[in-house]
Amino acid sequence: MIPVVPKFATVHSVISAWARCDRVDVTASHLRGNRASLLSQDFSLGAQAARLEAEVFKGRITAAQLVDEHTHVPLYASLMSPLAALGWREHLLSMPTHRDTWAQGIRRLSTVEAPTLRRCPICVAQDRARYGCAHWRVFHQWPVARHCVEHGVPLESHCARCRVPFTRGHEPSLADDPCPVCGSDRGAVDPNEPPAGYWPLLRRMHGLLAGSAEPMSEIARAAALRGVEPAQVGSKKIAARLRAAVDRLLVQWNLTSMEQLAALLGVNWIWFNEAERSGHMKESPPLISLALMAANPLRGSAISESTGASGDAIASEAPVASVQN
Ligand SMILES: [Zn+2]
Ligand SMILES: [Zn+2]
Repeated sequence: MIPVVPKFATVHSVISAWARCDRVDVTASHLRGNRASLLSQDFSLGAQAARLEAEVFKGRITAAQLVDEHTHVPLYASLMSPLAALGWREHLLSMPTHRDTWAQGIRRLSTVEAPTLRRCPICVAQDRARYGCAHWRVFHQWPVARHCVEHGVPLESHCARCRVPFTRGHEPSLADDPCPVCGSDRGAVDPNEPPAGYWPLLRRMHGLLAGSAEPMSEIARAAALRGVEPAQVGSKKIAARLRAAVDRLLVQWNLTSMEQLAALLGVNWIWFNEAERSGHMKESPPLISLALMAANPLRGSAISESTGASGDAIASEAPVASVQN
């Protein structure tokens, strides 16, 4: 039997499902653990995808499918310029053994996945009915994600009985496996009251990953912090319209600094310090730009005045009453 797997199951989850059906011998070191999650841990993303296609899935799941449907690549590619996004995907699939500077850059500047795994109880129940087992999802693992964007419920992050977090181990792992410590199958959530800026951003990220939102590549560059170097965001002499946009963003997230937001989003980049800034750091981290746009969606507003149409698109996609101030 060849297991059917849902879109945006993590690669590790897909391998684990195949292992459970005896399709894969997972004793091979390169198949073990969350290394296979691609773009989270593995530095040779294209090579790993090609290897999995040939050695594990025997062409039944292709490298392109792995990249497009089971990794974070669609999200991050849609935050690049269109040309860079195209170039990256081509590189991944046609020159997998060459140095992947795109992925290296993303991992250097961001924490792509939270350190422990998260799962949605509704996804788990639905997966069991549809696929016979439950999968870890790519979009549950983002550092900022505390909810399943498809079901609106909080994500479970640890065992309800012994409170051990769901970990990224070396063994095959599926989202409905019992707790390896106590055997319980009940999960628990971390209490969390999301701020107003959270849902529009999470929905937007999910739309970009799934390809249901318009590509962000041009918008992100054009609308967010246009002509403003990141170091200026922290500057006292910041332009009034940008200051207003940033203030609005921080209010929506109940935060007092951009550093705090960066930490929430998994952005590791200290970009406010002029001295530490280097050539490739002249632009805002894409997720920060995205959050800024989600917080300032109106036509003609402070930062989107040159691309009002795209700002409207974001506003209409985010029905949650996010603009409180
Ligand atoms: Zn769900
Ligand atoms: Zn337990």
